[in-house]
Amino acid sequence: MKIAVIGAGAAGIFSAIFLRNFKAEIHIFEQNEILGEKLRLTGGGRMNITNKRLSAADYFSSEERLKNNLLKTRWLDRREELFDELGIKYKWEENRAIAKTENAVREVERLIRAIKKQRNAFIREKIKISDIQKSGNKYLLKFDNKTEEFEFVIIATGGMLKLHDMGGREDIYKLPIKLGHTITKTRPVLTPLVITNNPFKQIAGLSFKGVIKNIGSKEEFNGDILITHLGISGPAVLDFSSVFEGSSCELGFISGLNENQFKDEFWKLREGKNYVRTFLHKFMPKSLYEWHLKKCGISTESTIADVNKEKFNNLLSNLYRLVLSGVQRMDYSNAWTTQGGVDLKEINVATMESKLNPHIFFAGEVVDMNGLCGGYNITFAAITAKIAAEAILNYSK
Ligand SMILES: Cc1cc2nc3c(=O)[nH]c(=O)nc-3n(C[C@H](O)[C@H](O)[C@H](O)COP(=O)(O)OP(=O)(O)OC[C@H]3O[C@@H](n4cnc5c(N)ncnc54)[C@H](O)[C@@H]3O)c2cc1C
Repeated sequence: MKIAVIGAGAAGIFSAIFLRNFKAEIHIFEQNEILGEKLRLTGGGRMNITNKRLSAADYFSSEERLKNNLLKTRWLDRREELFDELGIKYKWEENRAIAKTENAVREVERLIRAIKKQRNAFIREKIKISDIQKSGNKYLLKFDNKTEEFEFVIIATGGMLKLHDMGGREDIYKLPIKLGHTITKTRPVLTPLVITNNPFKQIAGLSFKGVIKNIGSKEEFNGDILITHLGISGPAVLDFSSVFEGSSCELGFISGLNENQFKDEFWKLREGKNYVRTFLHKFMPKSLYEWHLKKCGISTESTIADVNKEKFNNLLSNLYRLVLSGVQRMDYSNAWTTQGGVDLKEINVATMESKLNPHIFFAGEVVDMNGLCGGYNITFAAITAKIAAEAILNYSK
C-alpha cells in the first residue's frame, strides 16, 4: 500500500512521523529543495509550537460550527503528547512553548532525520505534484510527465502565496480544486499593518503594551505593539490582522487601567506640582508620551492643574481610542499564515477526510482555518496531521 503526503511543511512532516508504524510506503513530496522552509522561520527562529491558553476562540474559519467541532478533538487537550511523539522538546515561556534548542532550523533537521530513519518513509524533494486524478479506488499523482498511484493522499500544501513563489491562488489550491473542492476567500493574516502617512514615523522602533480593535467592535487585542517605519506591528497587531476589516481601526495606549480609573488617578493629582509627563511615564516610554502631549497641544512642562477639561478629554480619547485611518494589512511576503482555504463543509472534521473524495485527507494551513500567533498554527498542523494519520490507520484495521 502507498500513501502520498503532498508538502513537507509542518503538517506534512508531522503526518509522515505520525504514520511511522504503518505498514505501507509513505512518500512525502516537496516542491522545494529545502524541507519545512516556513517551519524553520517560526517563533523568530526559536519555534513556538503551542500555547497554554488555547481554545476554539483563538482560531478563525468561515465555518464557525465546524471549526468548533474540529477543535473538540481529544488531541487539543493532549497536544503535549503529540509534540512528545514528534520528539520536540520544549520549555515554557509564560504561555508559550518554545523549542528547547531555541533553534527552529535544528529542530526541522532533526525531524527530517527522524523521517529518513523511518523504514516506511521516502522523502522526495524538488518534486511538484502538478495534477491529481481519481482512478478506481486509487489516486494518480502527476509530476514531471510521470504518474504514480497511491491508495491514500494527505494534502498538506499550505496556503502561502509568496514564501516559495508558488504562483497564484489557483496554483496553490490546484490539487483540491482539481478534486472538486471549494476554496473560501483567502487573505494574508498575522501581518503588520501599514498606515498611509504614518503618524508614528518619528517614534519608529518603540514598543508598548496596548490595545487594538475594529472601530465600534467589542473584540479587543491586547499585548505588545511595535511602532515601525511603515505603521504598527507586534503580537497584538498580528493577531488583530486576522479580524481587521475596512481601512480604519482604534488603538489604545494604556493597558491595565480603564478610562474611568485613569480619569480618577489623573485628577487626584490636581493639587500640587504634579507634572503630566510624570503621570504618563507610569504607562509608557518618554518618546510616546511626548508624542501624545505634542498631539494634544500640552507642554511637557505642564502640571496636571494646568490642563483644562477640553485638553484632558482630547488626551484621554487619544490615549484610549486613537482612530487610525489609511490602514492596510501587508501582503503575503510579510504574513505568517493564510486565512481561508479548503471549505470545512467538504471535510469530515472528525477524520480530516474529504467528503467528496474518499481516501483524500487534508492537514494544516491548506484548510479554511487559522490561529492567532503564539504557537496556534503549528498546533493546528500537528492536530490535523494526527487526526488524518489516525483515520488512515483505522482504515486498515
Ligand atoms: C515568519 C513566520 C513565523 C511563524 N511563526 C510561527 C510560530 O512561532 N508558531 C506557529 O504556530 N506558527 C508560526 N508560523 C505559521 C506556521 O509556520 C504555519 O502555520 C505552518 O508552517 C503551516 O504548515 P503547513 O505544513 O500547513 O504549510 P507550509 O509550512 O506552508 O508547508 C506547505 C508545503 O507544501 C509544499 N507544496 C505546496 N504545493 C506543493 C505541490 N504541489 N507539490 C509539492 N509540494 C508542495 C510547499 O512548498 C511547502 O513546503 C509562522 C509563519 C511565518 C511565515
